[in-house]
Amino acid sequence: MDGSQKDKLRGIISSTIIFECSLKKYTSFSIGGPAECLILLDKKDELQPLLRFCSLENLPWHVIGRGTNVLVKDEGFAGVIIVLGKEFKEIHPGESRDGKKRSLMAGAGHSLTRLSALCSDYGFSGLEFGAGIPGTLGGALVMNAGAWGGEMGQIVTEVTIETAAKKIRVTGEQLDFGYRHWQGFAKYKGQGVVTGATLLLESGAPEEIATTCRELLKKRKDRQPVHFPNAGSFFKNPAGESAGRLIDSCGLKGMRVGGAMVSTVHGNFIVNRDHATARDVLNLMDKIKKTVKESKGIDLEPEVHFI
Ligand SMILES: Cc1cc2nc3c(=O)[nH]c(=O)nc-3n(C[C@H](O)[C@H](O)[C@H](O)COP(=O)(O)OP(=O)(O)OC[C@H]3O[C@@H](n4cnc5c(N)ncnc54)[C@H](O)[C@@H]3O)c2cc1C
Repeated sequence: MDGSQKDKLRGIISSTIIFECSLKKYTSFSIGGPAECLILLDKKDELQPLLRFCSLENLPWHVIGRGTNVLVKDEGFAGVIIVLGKEFKEIHPGESRDGKKRSLMAGAGHSLTRLSALCSDYGFSGLEFGAGIPGTLGGALVMNAGAWGGEMGQIVTEVTIETAAKKIRVTGEQLDFGYRHWQGFAKYKGQGVVTGATLLLESGAPEEIATTCRELLKKRKDRQPVHFPNAGSFFKNPAGESAGRLIDSCGLKGMRVGGAMVSTVHGNFIVNRDHATARDVLNLMDKIKKTVKESKGIDLEPEVHFI
């Protein structure tokens, strides 16, 4: 990005712009090189001008939530990384038109775990599975995040997406969620930013919802590595199988490449054991895939997105 582009950008964006920003602290893996530019975008009405600027100046851009499901290359990202801030965290609790269900409109920058806790305060049931899933609502929608049999696709009725040119409301069949993937978003990828969503929830007793959330959080802590940075489950579960069990039964727990290691707690977590590089993680990923393919005949597909 040259000086004139930087000046133009400062004219469009009133919130924080960081040039040559290390992405380590913006990802749960704590891995990755710098972004040429990172914008902590607080104002809704600056998003479209920003996307138009990137398009006009031919600058690649990418939006991340909390970076809890991404691996950033060691070379970093030659372009603009957008992180949704303040005005993308608004929430509006309400009810469905017929008054039978509860609805929650929320900005895509809101933390999913926090939303789950707020739902419990409001007596809104359905997002208990989100307790302890780190990341934002936007990231959870794009990933169709889920746990314990629940997933975002089951409770979302409308998503708003903004491109450089327009604001789009996605509803009904267009939503089209799959396993840890939102097919409906594929046509907007690289062009659209998820800015908010409406969730349809049931009415429930706050104490019961809170108890369920606490139990799920405890199960999570008992089963997942908590001491080393990671990006959650690295691979998707193959149909009818558990990626973690497959990796475990191949004896790969504890296997290391450089600073990256297969967690000794959960086979499907690659952890940043000791200053791992993205290259370490990718080499370890290849070894895991190769071993599981040779030993079980199954192709593992990464759940983590690469930037
Ligand atoms: C300890 C741990 C436990 C986890 N447990 C679970 C679990 O139980 N279940 C589960 O499903 N996942 C789990 N994850 C993975 C991860 O937390 C989820 O996928 C989460 O929903 C990602 O949200 P994020 O905001 O961090 O997205 P990011 O990781 O920042 O981004 C993920 C993808 O979404 C895109 N994206 C993010 N925000 C937007 C937006 N506003 N508009 C357009 N695109 C966007 C990014 O470009 C990227 O491609 C876990 C991760 C960790 C570290």
